[in-house]
Amino acid sequence: MSDIVKENSKSLEEKDKKNIWHHITPYTENHSPLIAYEGQGSWITDHHGHKYLDGMSGLWCVNVGYGREELAIAAYEQLKKMAYFPMTQSHVPAIELAEKLNKYLDDDYVFFYGNSGSDANEVAFKLVRQYHAEKGTPSKYKFISRYRAYHGSSMGALSATGQALRKYKYEPLSSGFLHVAPPDNFRRPKELSVEEYNLKCAEELEQKIIWEQKETIAGLIMEPIITGGGMLIPHKCYVEKVYEICQKHDVLLIMDEVICGFGRTGKMFGFMHYGIKPDIITMAKGITSAYLPLSVTAVRKEIYEAFKSSNETSHFRHINTFGGNPAACALAIKNIEIMEKENLVARSAVLGDKLYKGLQELENHPHVGDIRHKGFLMGIEIVEHKETKEPANPTRVSKIIKECRDLGLIIGKNGDTVAGFNNILTICPPLSSTDEDLNFIVNVLKKVFQANS
Ligand code: PLP
Repeated sequence: MSDIVKENSKSLEEKDKKNIWHHITPYTENHSPLIAYEGQGSWITDHHGHKYLDGMSGLWCVNVGYGREELAIAAYEQLKKMAYFPMTQSHVPAIELAEKLNKYLDDDYVFFYGNSGSDANEVAFKLVRQYHAEKGTPSKYKFISRYRAYHGSSMGALSATGQALRKYKYEPLSSGFLHVAPPDNFRRPKELSVEEYNLKCAEELEQKIIWEQKETIAGLIMEPIITGGGMLIPHKCYVEKVYEICQKHDVLLIMDEVICGFGRTGKMFGFMHYGIKPDIITMAKGITSAYLPLSVTAVRKEIYEAFKSSNETSHFRHINTFGGNPAACALAIKNIEIMEKENLVARSAVLGDKLYKGLQELENHPHVGDIRHKGFLMGIEIVEHKETKEPANPTRVSKIIKECRDLGLIIGKNGDTVAGFNNILTICPPLSSTDEDLNFIVNVLKKVFQANS
């Protein structure tokens, strides 16, 4: 690391403090953010030269790890050749990426490009409403999503978000967004089996559709697993039932794969665990491993067909200057090639199982309520008392995160979601992590939990 950065570390901190408003960070006079300087594999180095294993892949996104020169070269070459062209027309990387994505999706989708997960979900909401209008059922305009889920920060995506703490003081938001409870298997009623409880949650969704009048319900948006909202993994029967309910009531199913996509759960897309076919799939983060911004709203061809009329207002009237930037698309293609070459989807499943085995003994820890994972994506629910399952207080959760960081491991939590339930630690390392990286994560977590018994 360059000595210049080390020497200037104080002034970097001062300039940061003077000029930068940090995302979702409470104001504290002496807040000193980790200033990342360089990264390689699963590790980053800060401006002091301290190394950390990034057990959150940034914000759940650097799936192939840091420092991949091939990705930088792919973007560089494309920027030299053709830096920009709007997606009202087309360019080669956008065409090639769409074809590549469709190889994973049975060639059954068309792709609308954007810049971020929020953006991809906004596109989904607009086109679903218009789809119903074009089909002659314009009364279908409402969306259902689940409490505790996050779908983005823009006004529509935030309306779909089921996390009151992300919405409080920004309301009123868009109208027509309804919420139902997701299955939270750890906190299910004692008398119900996991399967019975999951079916009950799905039945409540159907009840909501009926009570709201099915002729008003346009779509349902869900993540295959609620990730940032607390790692809530449904039983297979829940997703199957929800799919069936959507089809029965002509409700389009939007699968938010912003985190679960691109190998994170041990399949290319999270929905692939459940044998279903979403109408719309939204993707961002892992599509470029976050090396450049890019998102995609994948739409079933059948839905796209509904926009074909020559009526003046029948085409999708949505435009986005940066969406589908050529360098981002070229980089995304290379990113997927790396995933294929290094078999990172299968690796995700292997690493996730090993991580769980390594940490399983923590299930006996007095403050560990539950450890759950799918692929290389894990949540550890921290409680005050095992018997009562009372969620851990924020100080206990923050202490664990800080002590991990002091030992060189970055982990996350479901911060600012719903009152009283910000007690789930999250672990989401790069899928390219080595076995040594995995051992490091396990050892640090065990050490920290031991010190917090
Ligand atoms: N959907 C999910 C499931 C997410 O986790 C996120 C971001 O964390 C988004 C959508 C929004 O993505 P972005 O931050 O790129 O707008």
